[in-house]
Amino acid sequence: MPIEFRTASTFSDAAGLIAGDRTARLLSGGTLIMRDINEGRLTDGLILRLVDPAYRQINLSGRVELGAGVTMAAILKRRELAYLHAPAQAIGGPAVRNMASIGGNLFAESPYGDFTVALLALDAQVMVMQGFGAPRAVPLEEFLAGRARGGQGLVTAVQFAPPQNAADFRFRKVSRVRPKGLAVLSVAAHLPMSGGRVSGARVAFGAMAPVPMRAKAVERVLEGKALDAAAITAARAAAAEGIRPVTDAIASEWYRREVLPVHLARLLSGQD
Ligand SMILES: Cc1cc2nc3c(=O)[nH]c(=O)nc-3n(C[C@H](O)[C@H](O)[C@H](O)COP(=O)(O)OP(=O)(O)OC[C@H]3O[C@@H](n4cnc5c(N)ncnc54)[C@H](O)[C@@H]3O)c2cc1C
Repeated sequence: MPIEFRTASTFSDAAGLIAGDRTARLLSGGTLIMRDINEGRLTDGLILRLVDPAYRQINLSGRVELGAGVTMAAILKRRELAYLHAPAQAIGGPAVRNMASIGGNLFAESPYGDFTVALLALDAQVMVMQGFGAPRAVPLEEFLAGRARGGQGLVTAVQFAPPQNAADFRFRKVSRVRPKGLAVLSVAAHLPMSGGRVSGARVAFGAMAPVPMRAKAVERVLEGKALDAAAITAARAAAAEGIRPVTDAIASEWYRREVLPVHLARLLSGQD
């Protein structure tokens, strides 16, 4: 069967088509899927384009809701989302950022997925539609854990509470080629402070496992502490717990393990 392209005008139509045809895949920004088609890795099945305007909407009243079709370029245009500019800017060059969507980033294979690392540190929920039912909120960590199984339906949006203080949110991507190399690693941290101590730490790593992961040991050692030299030393020591980096064309597993604590410490101490 050759590739068939169809356009869905509503979320329900797209979710129904995806549920009814196991070959169906959504074309979001297309930066990954079109490469698969052009390079002959994807040769048959249904490719869906979704034109529901809500797919590209940004809603900033209360909890932030970003339609899954929102692009990195659209994030960069919104001053209210300044805390997300570093992860959006970290994705490819300008042409890629004009197309690359948040939804597609949730499915991107490591070492891609830099924006998803930031969403994980923001404790985001993914809105998923299976068939014709209403979208269901799935914690991003759970969504990523289930990704290898496939069959995740249509992602309509992601939601999260914005950081109360933008300075509490930090992101760092390390790559060999600047400005648009692939990740040796990426780190995001949301470190709300209460009375001078971290309260509700969320730290996430990219390229340290097959999917972006929470750094729970780091979160534990930071919780309730002032962000001082002792806490940062403890975080460095905890960084390797649970990581499973791979060796790929960008870096070896050994190198990733060696440099992770260094860059985590730089992020926590606010260094460039
Ligand atoms: C030159 C180049 C450089 C890149 N650099 C980076 C980088 O630095 N960092 C990085 O993280 N990524 C990078 N990427 C990868 C990619 O551009 C991004 O990860 C991007 O966010 C993917 O989004 P997309 O909309 O283009 O995905 P698409 O190609 O449209 O989709 C990718 C996959 O996700 C599925 N999908 C997409 N949206 C949905 C949805 N809403 N519901 C269900 N399934 C969905 C598709 O069906 C497909 O299987 C790069 C790509 C290129 C070509």
